Amino acid sequence: MHHIFTDNPLDRGDTARRDEEWLRQTALDVNSKILPMWRLTIPLQYSKGSVSLRWASMASTKLSPESNTLFLGLRGGISHFAVDISQYEDPSSAPGLDSTWKFEEARTAATILSVDETGIIAQARAQIHWHSTHKYCGACGNLTYQRRGGQIRTCQKCKQDHFPRTDPVVIAVIEHNDMCLLGQSRGRLSQMSMYSALAGFVDQGESIEEAVRREVMEEAGIEVGQVLYHSSQPWPFPHSLMIGCHGIALTTDIKKDEEEMTDVRWFARADVLSALDLNHDHLNVPQPMAIAHHLIRSWAEGDVPLTEPNT
Ligand SMILES: [Zn+2]
Repeated sequence: MHHIFTDNPLDRGDTARRDEEWLRQTALDVNSKILPMWRLTIPLQYSKGSVSLRWASMASTKLSPESNTLFLGLRGGISHFAVDISQYEDPSSAPGLDSTWKFEEARTAATILSVDETGIIAQARAQIHWHSTHKYCGACGNLTYQRRGGQIRTCQKCKQDHFPRTDPVVIAVIEHNDMCLLGQSRGRLSQMSMYSALAGFVDQGESIEEAVRREVMEEAGIEVGQVLYHSSQPWPFPHSLMIGCHGIALTTDIKKDEEEMTDVRWFARADVLSALDLNHDHLNVPQPMAIAHHLIRSWAEGDVPLTEPNT
């Protein structure tokens, strides 16, 4: 399963990045590649009908390697960095850039780039967002500085280390006989009239299975038995990991969370199959960019090895 935002081809260089002097030198290397990111948008290169990430060299951009430079990793011996240029009102006014540089929102860029380049976007966007929001120590409030090319921020005063966070989210398609449970949460899904798998953040001290059962109980009032892991997808908005699962319902009466959900319903397999192929009058489900699409499709096509409980 090759979800969008996976298949990052860069070797993150876990050993190399421990050497701060090596990092400084490689950031100045004329062969190193820099991905300038402007307000979390992505630079794209359009040529002959294809689209790819647009990289610059540190020599051409003359950006200070000391500031806002995150080491993404190595490929073919070449170091790759992401640099946050959000401080410029217009990205074309950043050193070494000009009006030929085009930036695109990450969701849009992800739909037109190759999968491995979307993996690089996932890493760069999540890292830049985390660093831009963790300039101060959560323990004592003093300034922090980055180490290991961005893998750690350390407090200048109390020396506490802070690590870039990833927020785990469970997302699950729950089935019962030939039906599956889909919901429409307030906000984005409801604006698009879309039904999707139920999802929520994993709580502290909670297993993936427990999180699925709790979320489905909260959002739909449905009790879930067996839970099976399917696949996962980095989701850099801002730095989540979607953990895709399937589950078996033990009850069927829906009692939806009125605050979070506009609707929760059981849908028949035939309706779901036609919605997946964009062939349904009133049911919209997520597109292949999202893990939800693949969870729903694998259920609809009968690929989920769940065991119905004996009743
Ligand atoms: Zn501190």
